[in-house]
Amino acid sequence: MIVSVSADAPDTTARKVLAAAVAAGLEARGMDDGHGGTIIGIDGSLPDDDLALPGVRAVHPHHKPYMLASREHRPHAPTVVRVGDVRIGGGRPVMMAGPCVVEGRSSLLEIATAVKVAGADILRGGAFKPRTSPYAFQGLGEEGLRYLAEARDATGMPVVTEVMEPDQVELVAHYADILQIGARNMANFPLLRRVGATGRAILLKRGFSATVEEWLMSAEYILASGNARVILCERGIRGFDPALRFTLDLTAVPFAKELTHLPVIVDPSHGTGKRSLVGRMAMAGLAAGADGLMIEVHPDPERARCDAAQTITPDELAQINRSGRALHAALVETGDAAAELSADREPVPVGV
Ligand code: PEP
Ligand code: MN
Repeated sequence: MIVSVSADAPDTTARKVLAAAVAAGLEARGMDDGHGGTIIGIDGSLPDDDLALPGVRAVHPHHKPYMLASREHRPHAPTVVRVGDVRIGGGRPVMMAGPCVVEGRSSLLEIATAVKVAGADILRGGAFKPRTSPYAFQGLGEEGLRYLAEARDATGMPVVTEVMEPDQVELVAHYADILQIGARNMANFPLLRRVGATGRAILLKRGFSATVEEWLMSAEYILASGNARVILCERGIRGFDPALRFTLDLTAVPFAKELTHLPVIVDPSHGTGKRSLVGRMAMAGLAAGADGLMIEVHPDPERARCDAAQTITPDELAQINRSGRALHAALVETGDAAAELSADREPVPVGV
């Protein structure tokens, strides 16, 4: 059940509800509702007597299995994940861009500067890579993390990078601003719990054979570990046509946003596997309501050490950025998208 406690309730109310759940042997989590009140998710039901407390505003006996991630949990406002000065989910779409894999210090610094000039807000780059073949380049590991941190210092852009193993979470969190959970690890529950414990923002990619509900259940693992800073990323699912690497499931974007308060971004690079399709599908992702994009960029895409076929140039990124801004402005103008948030119309910020 979900118990909603109003802002003017005495402090004891939420505590008593949580204590009653513990006494009944039920898992329970409380999170702020963004308006000074508390929403408590309980994996089971409490008798009415336990809930007859001042300030209990509403009780929903039926809820989705992903109760903390569900829209009902934050009905008034979407979650905005703040990373440095960047707000993900705040109305203005964010651009995450960079190489598939960090190849070296100077090349990363060059790409970071180029994507920033092209309009990126956040730098991406893999240091630990989940390659299908054990013989393919696996990434530079900690050396790659150090270069990412250096590129952040040089450009001011926060960095996002993948973490693959529970035991590497602290190491990656030491260097990165956003921890990426890759498609192949979406259902690695020990990893989800571990990244949940860091409090770092988490980019959760959808597994390529995962349903939207399974994706949201994975988000729930992170939220239930006490970390509300989750960004979902649609990156394509396995279709029947081998002509393309994956099928970008753009229906999942507005669908997921109906079900959850969390921001959703789109990765048209992995979603297509084909450079010529990336720009169009980036626009389609924004039209579908995405809160941002993640795009693989390299100054010499043909020579990228990983995912060359889907990698675009900084100039192409700049074009996507221009078109994307114009598209978003047009959607705002016609009332079809949220404008960049002003101070007086702020949804729930989560984290620092
Ligand atoms: C990546 O972003 O480089 C990546 C490996 O993505 P995915 O997990 O979506 O395949
Ligand atoms: Mn890649």
